Amino acid sequence: MDAEQLRKYGHKMIDFIADYYKSIEQFPVLSQVQPDYLKDLLPNFAPDQPEKFQDILDDITKKIIPGVTHWQNPNFFGYFSASSSIAGFLGEILCSGLNVIGFNWLTSPASTELEIIVLDWLAKLLNLPDKFLSSGHGGGIIQGTASEAILVVLLAARDKILLRIGRNSMDKLVVYSSDQVHSFFKKACQIAGIHSENFRVLQTNASSGHGIDPRILDQAIHDDMDIGLIPFFLCATVGTTSSAAVDPLVEIGLITEENGMWFHVDAAYAGNACICSEYRHYLDGVEYADSFGINPYKWLLVNFDCSCLWVKDQRDLVNSLTTNPVYLENMIFRKNNFVDFKDMEIQIGRRFRSLKLWMVFRLYGVENLKEHIRKNIKLARQFEKLVRSDNRFEIVCPGMFSLVCFRLLPHNENDGGYELNSKLLDAVNSTGKLFFTHTIISDKYILRFAVGATLTEERHIIESWKVIQNQATLVSRKFTQ
Ligand code: PLP
Repeated sequence: MDAEQLRKYGHKMIDFIADYYKSIEQFPVLSQVQPDYLKDLLPNFAPDQPEKFQDILDDITKKIIPGVTHWQNPNFFGYFSASSSIAGFLGEILCSGLNVIGFNWLTSPASTELEIIVLDWLAKLLNLPDKFLSSGHGGGIIQGTASEAILVVLLAARDKILLRIGRNSMDKLVVYSSDQVHSFFKKACQIAGIHSENFRVLQTNASSGHGIDPRILDQAIHDDMDIGLIPFFLCATVGTTSSAAVDPLVEIGLITEENGMWFHVDAAYAGNACICSEYRHYLDGVEYADSFGINPYKWLLVNFDCSCLWVKDQRDLVNSLTTNPVYLENMIFRKNNFVDFKDMEIQIGRRFRSLKLWMVFRLYGVENLKEHIRKNIKLARQFEKLVRSDNRFEIVCPGMFSLVCFRLLPHNENDGGYELNSKLLDAVNSTGKLFFTHTIISDKYILRFAVGATLTEERHIIESWKVIQNQATLVSRKFTQ
């Protein structure tokens, strides 16, 4: 590692990325390449000898960038956004530059300690109950993704109850969620060995805003207990992936508390908005939760990856996930009984991700983060207004956070508008001018327009809506011919 070479290449790479951001609107938002496009452009074997840096940069421009879907393009409205920022990017550079692997305190004390501090900062910003702060047995940990967060708390909850009732009761354990929970929850249950028949999917509907109906939950729990099963885990969502629906945490929390169940709240996307006082009420009831998570990489200007998980008692994670091989023993651990983050996650090696969050807090300040959220939500409502002004369309779900769920009204409802709206979606995305995605709720094909890219302004919303309208005219024409 030659410092001067790093400086030289580093400056060039930063210039390259700065130029990328400067010209980002010129690229089609959705990559237009076909599968296997890269095979024909790159050799079959790794180079034997070093190549010139400039040649590599040229290849990035010519061969890699065409195969990139530009999540940071201001016309990216798909899924939920991955909001990057200069501060997040600089934190990522620092994380990569130091390249420490902070699995325990000794391997990089600052990595462990900064993580504890910034997660306390964020917990206070979200006005989380004190039990989630590091001052007691609780506290936060940065996971890579919300999926990892869900998996580790499910494992902790499983092992906690099995310790009490015995491992041979494994097949009696039952988990609950709504039909709107993120698909990863099912995968987590598979990994955790939950019996496939003990995965309860509670039906939601429009009348409850696609949130869990507490009466249905209560009934399901009692039905299971009546046949000798053991309800032990519920995953609720604040801001579901399909429509940003919110489960009623207070009512659910009372039920899980009464039945001695672990209550996890997945607020991967919408939880970020709750740093603003006007949205904090969506977290009312989090005081009943055993664990709670948000993804700052989705909406708080922290570059991917960064998912924050808080638990009310970190010992539950440690009891389930600890490994203390002799080669990782050290004086500090023995003396302080310090909890190492490696014992609260799947992997051992871990990145110094708190640098990104810390950098974002310090370079922008909380007020600017709130401003970013508010601006996105305002733009989403503006888009919603545009949709409402065209009677060929309908808003399907109530506008929540920065997501708008809508559809082109079909001529007949036989297929839930699937054919018409999927054609419209493909037609719009093929223009390369914007990118958005879809979902299906209650058998209706729904278009999702999620505002959240850092560079999105009013003009992008207005222009995107014009593209959608024009393509709707063309697609509808084909349907009536
Ligand atoms: N939970 C919710 C509510 C989500 O919307 C998503 C992704 O969009 C996830 C979990 C999964 O997040 P990750 O990709 O960080 O695992």
